[in-house]
Amino acid sequence: MIKCPYCKVSIATRTDVCPLCHKNLIEAGVSKDEIKKTPLDFPKKGKVPALSGTLFDKVYLLCALNVVLVSLAVELIVFEHIKVSWLILSIIAYFYLFLRVTIRKANLFPQKVLFQALILSVVVICTRRILPEPDAIFEYILPVIYLISMIIMGIFFIVNYKKPSRYLLNLITIAALGFLPFCVDLIEDVHAHPMSIITASLGAAILITLFAFYAKTIVSELKRNFHV
Ligand SMILES: [Zn+2]
Repeated sequence: MIKCPYCKVSIATRTDVCPLCHKNLIEAGVSKDEIKKTPLDFPKKGKVPALSGTLFDKVYLLCALNVVLVSLAVELIVFEHIKVSWLILSIIAYFYLFLRVTIRKANLFPQKVLFQALILSVVVICTRRILPEPDAIFEYILPVIYLISMIIMGIFFIVNYKKPSRYLLNLITIAALGFLPFCVDLIEDVHAHPMSIITASLGAAILITLFAFYAKTIVSELKRNFHV
């Protein structure tokens, strides 16, 4: 059994990277012989077929493709412009990402909130062409999405303040995103709208508070997540 010199964890399978702290074990001083002596604990991964995915994925995507193609054809032939198809496409994409990313992929609650905010922003920006007032996206819709996400994540963070490290980066990301509508608003309109100012200020307050109290944890979390 290998023992990681950094975090002292015992590793039961053959590997040259510590599964806990992600340090390179050979660089950390573990001998190659010791790693070779440890048996491989799991079978090798087989080949994944090119068209993988569950039955749900296949049926959903096939139906989606048909619906979009039919609506595109109808719109182009009858109305000679594309509007409703954009909306249908974004709704279909939204539900797919919601089920697959928000519900299934994200493990922690703050991660779910962050992914949901990102998916919503992409979908909202995609509908820009068909909205009667596209400016509303950066003036009201995106600021409200980020504001609500920040408040939900902030409450979650306060309730779980004893174990902040796992949620810190999610909260920082959403707080930084809060500046996006404000900046776009400034660039496009010269003056920012109240909603985007509120969101950006809350984002700034969260960032300042986090860096004031958790600077060390943030640095170690960044190192752990991005292997720097
Ligand atoms: Zn380790």
